[in-house]
Amino acid sequence: MEVNLISDTVTCPSPGMLDAMMQARVGDDVFKEDPTVNALEEKAAQMFGKEAALFFPSGTMANQTGIKLHTQPGDQLICDKYAHVYNYEGGGVSFNSGVSCKLVDGDRGMMEAPQVEAAVNPPDFYHSPRTRLVCIENTTNKGGGACWDMEELERIREVCNRHGLAYHLDGARIWNALVATGTKPEQYGALFDTISVCLSKGLGCPVGSLLLGSKADMDQALRIRKILGGGMRQAGYLAAAGIYALDHQVEDLAEDHRKAREIGALLEDKAFVSYVAPVETNIVIFEVFQDRVTDTALSALLGEQGIRLIGMGQGKLRMVTHRDYTPAMHAYVLEVLDGLEF
Ligand SMILES: *Cc1c(COP(=O)(O)O)cnc(C)c1O
Repeated sequence: MEVNLISDTVTCPSPGMLDAMMQARVGDDVFKEDPTVNALEEKAAQMFGKEAALFFPSGTMANQTGIKLHTQPGDQLICDKYAHVYNYEGGGVSFNSGVSCKLVDGDRGMMEAPQVEAAVNPPDFYHSPRTRLVCIENTTNKGGGACWDMEELERIREVCNRHGLAYHLDGARIWNALVATGTKPEQYGALFDTISVCLSKGLGCPVGSLLLGSKADMDQALRIRKILGGGMRQAGYLAAAGIYALDHQVEDLAEDHRKAREIGALLEDKAFVSYVAPVETNIVIFEVFQDRVTDTALSALLGEQGIRLIGMGQGKLRMVTHRDYTPAMHAYVLEVLDGLEF
């Protein structure tokens, strides 16, 4: 059996989604004349209680546009040391915006308000970069799919207000947080100036992300997206997948979370596993005792049995469950993991 657990980005469109894509009404979205893209943007903006939204080819471009919107070259943003915008966007923060990152040493990708406040540079001390923006990630990727506490997010909003900082949410997996915690999209919309969301991860779309914010910010984001080369023409075929996912596939994430919890629980009992990060959503991060088995040896061994996961180095490994990970695959993975002894 072939089982791919390297990421939830490996998902393919379901038959219902493919049907919706085939039937999409389209136009030229660079002229803002694609009715399906316009409908998706309106739908997403309404969900989160924001004035407007803009469709993007990738979450990276949506985040980079958000950062560009809120900063000038030379400015600094504050984020956790695990943040995707810092670690996995190719240095785009400096390339696109000329901005540096002040890293906070948080817990599983999550910072506390006093840490954020301490990271703000004094505005009258002109030797240091001007702090302009705080970036949050929910759920945290490198932090193992952890979900933020809403009250901490509110306290950080207050820090932003006190210091005149913009507040951006990298919500690539916000859907997982919504399903796992029962929080509502409009709670995030009320807190953040801009929010990026991905449709192409657990929701199963082939391509697509959105940036949400005020009408004025999205007008400016349209210009930035053009500069970054992110204008697409008959993108309604992709937007139709997004509308379908929001209508039919969000609740399915609970199933991914259940499977991830079961994998985590099984790993907890293994003598060669030194640590399993708390499994809150669809990401399982665990560490092995390297004197028993190294992460590279373990991922090679599982690879021989058709199971792909990601080695993160230093004994850490990551598995991500998703909608194309079937019950039969899950049973097989549990059986193989249960049989491992080192
Ligand atoms: C996947 C991801 C993104 C965006 O990635 P793209 O591959 O560019 O769509 C942004 N932030 C986080 C936390 C992610 O996991």
